[in-house]
Amino acid sequence: MNAVCLLSGGLDSATSLACARRDGFQTYALSFDYGQRHRVELEAAARVATHLGAAEHKTIAIDLRAFGGSALTGDIDVPKGRATETMAGTIPVTYVPARNTVFLSIALAWAEVLGATDIFLGVNAVDYSGYPDCRPAYIEAFEQMANLATKAGVEGAMRLRIHTPLIHLSKAEIIQLGLSLGVDYSLTHSCYDPAGGRACGQCDSCQLRRAGFAEAGLVDPLEYAG
Ligand code: ZN
Repeated sequence: MNAVCLLSGGLDSATSLACARRDGFQTYALSFDYGQRHRVELEAAARVATHLGAAEHKTIAIDLRAFGGSALTGDIDVPKGRATETMAGTIPVTYVPARNTVFLSIALAWAEVLGATDIFLGVNAVDYSGYPDCRPAYIEAFEQMANLATKAGVEGAMRLRIHTPLIHLSKAEIIQLGLSLGVDYSLTHSCYDPAGGRACGQCDSCQLRRAGFAEAGLVDPLEYAG
């Protein structure tokens, strides 16, 4: 059985890929060079794909800087040092317009070519930083759409499933799960705004990651700038 696994190079997507392997899938890892300011994560994605034995790893270029609209793709500063309550309250400027819909659509196309009925996505609705395209209702709607959108779905040859093994887990639980599946988190990259390849320690993503390791009583193998 083949599965397409979206892989950003971060902690969540690495754990999601490990879950696909645990579930017996031959994994096809998919990353995007979308003009993100933290392009260094693509090197992490390549390392993680190799480490977790992906059958293939593709990086597709789509330049979302063409219209910007996000702190990750435009000239907006990445927020630093925000309190966790503030993160949960609103959709942050690091939201990339329709990103998961763009990524899942391409994953769906590759799945159809591979004859794969399964897509893995490392979204999380607990520490989800307010992103609308990480919610269970969104995932269910996409899955329904996918089965209407494809030749494979219409001919009834297969029913496509979107797996979100982390969706109800806290960051600490995700880390514990990943470690039990042999994920080496020193290979991953989470920071939205790295300087010289090093994690800033202060953006939402760094803070959620550090809090997750602390809550799990574990040491984050990454070095932080601050
Ligand atoms: Zn950071």
